[in-house]
Amino acid sequence: MKLQLFPELGCEFILQDNEFWHNDGMVSDLQQWKYRLDVHYDDNSLPLAEESTGHCSQYWWGRENHVHFAYRDLGNPLLNLFVVAHESTHGLTILNQEEVLQSELTRAGFNEDLMSLDPETKANVSGLCALLRRGTGLVPAISLVTARLHVPDDIGMYFNCS
Ligand SMILES: [Zn+2]
Repeated sequence: MKLQLFPELGCEFILQDNEFWHNDGMVSDLQQWKYRLDVHYDDNSLPLAEESTGHCSQYWWGRENHVHFAYRDLGNPLLNLFVVAHESTHGLTILNQEEVLQSELTRAGFNEDLMSLDPETKANVSGLCALLRRGTGLVPAISLVTARLHVPDDIGMYFNCS
């Protein structure tokens, strides 16, 4: 049993001995990063789309369950933070660790049951909460991410703050 910190949202979760969390950070070539992992783990998954801003992948190595995520530089620290939180959340979904997120998200003004949302919405809500924790107001945070990323502009309906 290992404790893993999720710094973007200020919470931590428990990994089983066979679970491994790899934040591979900012990479210059996301497709290349993914390709190298596929080769390393002998996994034949599809290549990433050219326009991907970040990615989270799960790989099995015998009994070991490895979650890797990375992102490319979007030229804006807040957008990068959003993508890291978004991809980390996919990692938490893969590892069935979403319940640790709920209370952090609720503290940031999120007013829904996380489990009722689809994976992309969960990841977007979590990304938005990372920006709110950083002091970005809800309206500016939504404007920023909907202008630059594939985030639906009704994401604000899950929040009761402004
Ligand atoms: Zn996603």
